[in-house]
Amino acid sequence: MSAPYPWLEGPWHRLLGTRAHPVQALLLTGPRGTGKGRLARAWAQALLCEAPQPDGAACGQCPACHWFATDAHPDFRLLALQEKAGKDGETRMATAIEVDQAREVVDFVQLSTYRAGFRVVLVDPADSLNPAAANALLKVLEEPPLNTVFVLVSDQPRRLLPTIRSRCTRIDIGLPPVDQAAQWLAGQGVDDAMNLLALSGGTPLDAQRWVKGSELDERRDVLEGLAAPGRLDPVTSGDRWKTLSPQTWHNVVYKWLADLLAVRLQGSVQFNRDFAEVLTQLGGQADLSRLLALARAQANEGRTLAHPLNRVLQLEAWLIHYRHVFD
Ligand SMILES: [Zn+2]
Repeated sequence: MSAPYPWLEGPWHRLLGTRAHPVQALLLTGPRGTGKGRLARAWAQALLCEAPQPDGAACGQCPACHWFATDAHPDFRLLALQEKAGKDGETRMATAIEVDQAREVVDFVQLSTYRAGFRVVLVDPADSLNPAAANALLKVLEEPPLNTVFVLVSDQPRRLLPTIRSRCTRIDIGLPPVDQAAQWLAGQGVDDAMNLLALSGGTPLDAQRWVKGSELDERRDVLEGLAAPGRLDPVTSGDRWKTLSPQTWHNVVYKWLADLLAVRLQGSVQFNRDFAEVLTQLGGQADLSRLLALARAQANEGRTLAHPLNRVLQLEAWLIHYRHVFD
């Protein structure tokens, strides 16, 4: 079986080659949007499969593979962010993996396995383990029970406890070569692969994500507004863009600000190549210290992406700051 994505062939075969004696604590790192999560799941399935192919990959047919496909394999646990109900009654994604979840996994690995093979714990994203959860997990990572394999996935391995990092064998998944990523996107029916790759910082899965939803249209709408700061009315625009998800808004404006800075400091556009002309013009007009302050604030917001109490007011304030950059 081939790797989940063509640019993962190297690490995939490296992993399969260890199937008989896998490392018990594996850390897959690399930029977001490169398929680390899919690779980790494929590896977990390969380990759990009861009739693996000659190269070590999962068969996709045996009972273990069926259970795995339906998230029901008794010897597999996924430790991930969970949805939880907030005080206002709305459910939203937790920002951390909690200690209760980690303790459940610690108990799980101390039981005997249901089937005769491996037991696999996938932790994704491992950098969102809160300190208590990380410490709970550390104990079993230090001395993993027999036939137990931990696979940790992280875009931000520096946020992991150093003791966890040092316990793991690390495989870095880099960005794929641009030609390979563009070829894969074209094969997925994506037009304009090169522009989308630029927009996504070279990560093919992020580039593909842009095409799937309405984000690309939303992005165009926002950027056409930001492209003419003099005509931008914070009140009407704030109201117009209040329905965008905080994630989409952040992605769009953060890259826009980064491009304005790049134009100002290096004379070139990194992400929004389709807006290169207007970015070059605006970058020349921008007040550098105000632009830096706004970009820095945006980077901070990207770490939390909290739902503000009043989205419209927040957007209006942002747009007023943005207009000041060009006063
Ligand atoms: Zn199988």
